[in-house]
Amino acid sequence: MRTLVVDHPLVTHKLTALRDVASDTATFRSLTAELVTLLAYEATREMRVQPVSVTTPVAVASGVKLARPVPLIVPVLRAGLGMLEGMTRLLPMADVGFVGLRRDEESLVASTYADRLPTDLTGRDTFVLDPMLATGGTLATVISMLVDRGAASVTAICLLVAPEGLRHVEEVFAADGDEPGEAPWVRVVTAAVDERLNDRGYIVPGLGDAGDRLYGKI
Ligand code: URA
Repeated sequence: MRTLVVDHPLVTHKLTALRDVASDTATFRSLTAELVTLLAYEATREMRVQPVSVTTPVAVASGVKLARPVPLIVPVLRAGLGMLEGMTRLLPMADVGFVGLRRDEESLVASTYADRLPTDLTGRDTFVLDPMLATGGTLATVISMLVDRGAASVTAICLLVAPEGLRHVEEVFAADGDEPGEAPWVRVVTAAVDERLNDRGYIVPGLGDAGDRLYGKI
């Protein structure tokens, strides 16, 4: 398994504004979409393509198109939904599946309440959207669901990760490939690795509850 921390001034600039407690819901949503698009640019760097030729007004040129089957994007409900628009901007042809996990606030253990994923993911590149990799329990469960259904690759895009959660995911998927073509290939792409988790399972310094900041407290 591989982890990529995207080191780019625009990513850090947008993440800093996203962390700001003074950023309101509208600002938080648009910054999330912009940040995801920047992360997605790196996360899709090794997508499978096939050669094609195209006729320009002047001559025939060689190019590529994305290989089939089309990729699957999986936002983890509910906060991952806020990342979908930024991702589909880059991959408008992708299918979208949904997974819902609820975290018990005492034990911090996640349980699945929604599973709208294809049963067969053979040969497909998949992208999990989950803004906060905290304990890693949720992300490890979702990655396992995709690997078990035959995904060729699973790339998790997280705005922020905690070192504890990243270690957990790296341990669970230590045996999985870290190069394209080694199936299944598991990767985490993020804007930053923060300091730690606090005793309530929040990332420090983090940005608070991503779901609440995107959609309000319910
Ligand atoms: N989920 C969040 O929304 N924020 C955290 O800091 C941790 C988990």
